[in-house]
Amino acid sequence: MITRFAPSPTGLLHLGHAWSAHLAHQMAKENNGTFLIRFEDIDHTRVRPEFYQSALDDLAYLEIYSDLTPIKQLDRLPYYQKALQQLQDLGVVYPCTCTRKQIQAELQNLSNAPHGPEGPLYPGTCRDKTRSPSHKTEPSWRLDTKKASKVTGPLTFSDKIYGTIEVNPHLLGDIILARKDIATSYHLAVTVDDAHQKITHITRGNDLLPSTHVHRLLQTLLQLPQPKYLHHPLVLDNHGKRLAKRHDSLSIKALIQSRKSPQDILNLASKNLSNP
Ligand code: GLU
Repeated sequence: MITRFAPSPTGLLHLGHAWSAHLAHQMAKENNGTFLIRFEDIDHTRVRPEFYQSALDDLAYLEIYSDLTPIKQLDRLPYYQKALQQLQDLGVVYPCTCTRKQIQAELQNLSNAPHGPEGPLYPGTCRDKTRSPSHKTEPSWRLDTKKASKVTGPLTFSDKIYGTIEVNPHLLGDIILARKDIATSYHLAVTVDDAHQKITHITRGNDLLPSTHVHRLLQTLLQLPQPKYLHHPLVLDNHGKRLAKRHDSLSIKALIQSRKSPQDILNLASKNLSNP
């Protein structure tokens, strides 16, 4: 068994991260497995250098250590490029030059704009266009979910809490797999890296459940192994809202400063869990 915790060094880790890391670490240790940390730092506009070490320090306080040196996604861009190339060769991605404004305008014109769990989906404007050679700017690349699901056929994934789930390839629509500015995306990088690190069990918050539908498609298209999943309930604040970077009072740092023991921190997290 190999599990992982994959923080983005864009802020302080909070109570929710503590819970997520704890579950992945505990699962590995109870099964004589390996626990790994990976820094998801592709969004260089939001990453700050001090947050790498601060995450490791916070986890060390909780006695959570990576069994191998943590990897950084920014060191792995050529691998994401190669995966994108594979998808281009399969014909399941297309270039998109739409700006956010154009997408919004297009959505407003549609009487039945497509919707996903997180709001309106990309309406497919660039799907059937052939790329004209005169484009000045690099395009982003989107997954053509219709073509992709034809290639993969029906898929499922297995989750320890939710059981067997049928993949809905269209759940998040034709999402971006490579942004113009960073040439990859969370979805592409995470799929490539979970396979690279041979992760057998992915534990993460259930806010990422919709993303797993996309990841299963990508794993199949790229002929990568299929991990098992545990999408855990989220840690909520006192008002029942999910934690975000703004909750500095519930950062692990602040809790350490207020002399909470590692066990206090985990107890606090488990007391504040949402329903699945
Ligand atoms: N980097 C993501 C986050 O900080 C975690 C993604 C994952 O576990 O797949 O929310």
